[in-house]
Amino acid sequence: MTRTLPFAAHVLARLDELERAGLMRRPRVLESAAGPRIRLGGRDVLSFCSNDYLGLASHPELAQALADAALSWGVGSGASRHVSGSLPPHVAAQKELARLVEAADALLFGSGYAANVGAIQALAGPEDVVFSDALNHASLIDGCRLSRARVIVHPHGDPTALETLLRAHRSEGRAALIVTDSVFSMDGDLAPLRALRSLADRYDAGLLVDEAHALGVLGPAGGGLCREQSVVPDVLVGTLGKSFGLAGAFVAGAETLVRLIENRARSYVFSTAPPPAIAAALPRALALATDARRATVLGHARRIRAELPRRSRLRPLPGPAPIVPVVIGEPELTMRASAALLQRGVFVHGIRPPTVPAGTSRLRIVPTAAHTHEDVDRLLDALASLPELA
Ligand SMILES: *Cc1c(COP(=O)(O)O)cnc(C)c1O
Repeated sequence: MTRTLPFAAHVLARLDELERAGLMRRPRVLESAAGPRIRLGGRDVLSFCSNDYLGLASHPELAQALADAALSWGVGSGASRHVSGSLPPHVAAQKELARLVEAADALLFGSGYAANVGAIQALAGPEDVVFSDALNHASLIDGCRLSRARVIVHPHGDPTALETLLRAHRSEGRAALIVTDSVFSMDGDLAPLRALRSLADRYDAGLLVDEAHALGVLGPAGGGLCREQSVVPDVLVGTLGKSFGLAGAFVAGAETLVRLIENRARSYVFSTAPPPAIAAALPRALALATDARRATVLGHARRIRAELPRRSRLRPLPGPAPIVPVVIGEPELTMRASAALLQRGVFVHGIRPPTVPAGTSRLRIVPTAAHTHEDVDRLLDALASLPELA
């Protein structure tokens, strides 16, 4: 018989487990707006730990567009769009986003998490099978679970292994869906999208690509990795809270696909629509997402990857994205390195399990287009001066 545990004791025991594993998270409270230069603990600090790749999150023109839109359209949308209807900014933003990713239609969600969970649950059920990369984002994993489909996890970035699994398990599902990040959020590497597209075609599967970390940064006009590689996914998920400095997300694809998701995705149907002002500010975010900003952030990332091995023992993982991970290993050492950087006025987030696999805790360095050349100098100086790691 299982021993019963009073609820409060259960909560304390779970917290204690986290503490002892070095996995307790206690997010810091900033004393300023988010941005490349923040105020933290009474000090001015450089921040290299957002996903605000283009530096738009605190851009005054975007803030102004949002404020103007709030005065025109109000703040809250009031209910799910199935209840109180769509507002013109929602519809216009969907058109713009569909154009950006060259899809027929798109549907706004309150967050990328909600978009992924809702899209997968809408598209796959207990009769179906989903093939998922081992390093997919938590929201894709949770969508797979919520769908109650058979889920086959394949080794990261390995289309050969995926093909073996498709051959073995495709017939176990009525419909099949292959699900992947395009730029992986913690490693910054790229999915083999062309190989995935060709496997999807050969095995009668749909392809869902989450472009959260590519949109705005990679591809022609920041249209993402699918566009860069001329791959047409069946389902494309993009977020507005990263490169575009706003909040929310969208799912894009054929009109039929979007109609199905609009009707079946529970995180859409049973959730209040995103604020119309966010949707109305999107055109300004897209206008500010220029090639010049993309070039700046990609240049910073290239420079950090090139200089760090020259100036220290640190070896960033390779990749074209502005996510520069430096794997340390154990969570304690990673968090000590992050604390030592903060002492030097540089905020770099330490990433631990369950966000990354055990033994691969890392510093995740993310420059933005709002950082200067000198900001990157200071980051490199701080990293090269860490006694534990240098
Ligand atoms: C951040 C992220 C999401 C979630 O998007 P939110 O809008 O922050 O909820 C989904 N997928 C990936 C790959 C992400 O990195």
